[in-house]
Amino acid sequence: MLSQYFNQDHQLFRQSVRQFIEKEVIPNTEKWETERQIPKSVFKKMGDLGYMGINFSEDYGGMNADLWYSVVFLEEIARSTMGGFSTAVSVHQFMAINHIAKIGSPFLKEKYLAPAIAGEKIAALGITEPNAGSDVSAILTTAVREGDFYVINGSKTFITNGTYGDFITLTCKTNTAAGANGVSLIVVDLDTEGVSRTKLNKMGWHSSDTAEIRFDNVRVPVEHLIGQENAGFYYLMESLQLERLVAAIMAVAGAELSLDLTIQYLHEREAFGKPIAKYQAIRHKIAEMATEVDIAREFVYSTCWKFTQGEVVVKECSMAKLFTSELAKRVADGCLQFFGGFGYIEDYPICRIYRDARVGTIAGGTSEIMKEIIGKIVVDGAAYKKVY
Ligand SMILES: Cc1cc2nc3c(=O)[nH]c(=O)nc-3n(C[C@H](O)[C@H](O)[C@H](O)COP(=O)(O)OP(=O)(O)OC[C@H]3O[C@@H](n4cnc5c(N)ncnc54)[C@H](O)[C@@H]3O)c2cc1C
Repeated sequence: MLSQYFNQDHQLFRQSVRQFIEKEVIPNTEKWETERQIPKSVFKKMGDLGYMGINFSEDYGGMNADLWYSVVFLEEIARSTMGGFSTAVSVHQFMAINHIAKIGSPFLKEKYLAPAIAGEKIAALGITEPNAGSDVSAILTTAVREGDFYVINGSKTFITNGTYGDFITLTCKTNTAAGANGVSLIVVDLDTEGVSRTKLNKMGWHSSDTAEIRFDNVRVPVEHLIGQENAGFYYLMESLQLERLVAAIMAVAGAELSLDLTIQYLHEREAFGKPIAKYQAIRHKIAEMATEVDIAREFVYSTCWKFTQGEVVVKECSMAKLFTSELAKRVADGCLQFFGGFGYIEDYPICRIYRDARVGTIAGGTSEIMKEIIGKIVVDGAAYKKVY
């Protein structure tokens, strides 16, 4: 559909991503969900098609395309019905390597960004720790300078692509006395001596690989520092805008998918002699959910547009993440109800969509934290400046 946001080229790109998902992803759903990870070869296939570096420089193999191509890509991967797959792929591109693309040195771009865009290396982002999730400034992982190396000690948890990823963009304290002003971002190869990884068993997002990672005296060359030492907290806060927008785009697409699958089922399933689509109680509920999804999509698109104009959209991204992740959860629940008992059976995608939607209000910043951020801006009048 053409609009003020999408032109003919975006539409062609949408067709190509959709074909890829239908051919290379959906047929593997059961296998990947059971194996609790997607194969590394999928990253490579997507890299070959240019899907892993949509907004990044052509110098490192990227498409150098506008944000709307990423919106298209995220909407289409979210329609795979596998939250685990779409998360693994989006964390790699939009959360783990974007810091290197923005402020990494030419050395880091050659060594990590280019192979990640090619889909040859898989990236993770390590912020959360067993004792610090929402409160990022409370992280305990340290990176202590020793000559030309950082020596890293600590633990990270819930790390997407953590068990089989090749490298991680790691948040560490380089000054333990400085709170948020002592955080740095450092790239760590996950096969370095002293790194140990344990796979976590999750309620949903089964096809994504999620790990707890320990770092015991891990020695990393100082060239692996991304940007300035002790500026990491501010880089993270800036990039969280995009991260939350990514989550919102996928949440809306996921809710829309729930509705599409359900409406199709409503026409097929009969009760008391007619399709259940004919019952007003059901139609009204669908009408309510469709209204919310359409309104949410428009808000997310307008936030994307502001983002492309270089505006600081901390408030809008937080609102978008809060509203859409809660909406996706509510819509999946409402839709599952209309599948009756079949909604509770694994053979029906709505079952997985419901389970996967649950984590949307937790990962990437909880709903409570989104409200805190919005509250600071709306109630206290807080203002944010651009970091990059
Ligand atoms: C499947 C999955 C994948 C993930 N992937 C990654 C990843 O790749 N990389 C990564 O770094 N992290 C990842 N995370 C971590 C995720 O971002 C955190 O779980 C999230 O930020 C919440 O942190 P926490 O779990 O420590 O909860 P906590 O911070 O301990 O919060 C617990 C509860 O307290 C509430 N709370 C906390 N502070 C406040 C407050 N000030 N006011 C009101 N309520 C508050 C929270 O909202 C929550 O309900 C992932 C998590 C999951 C489940």
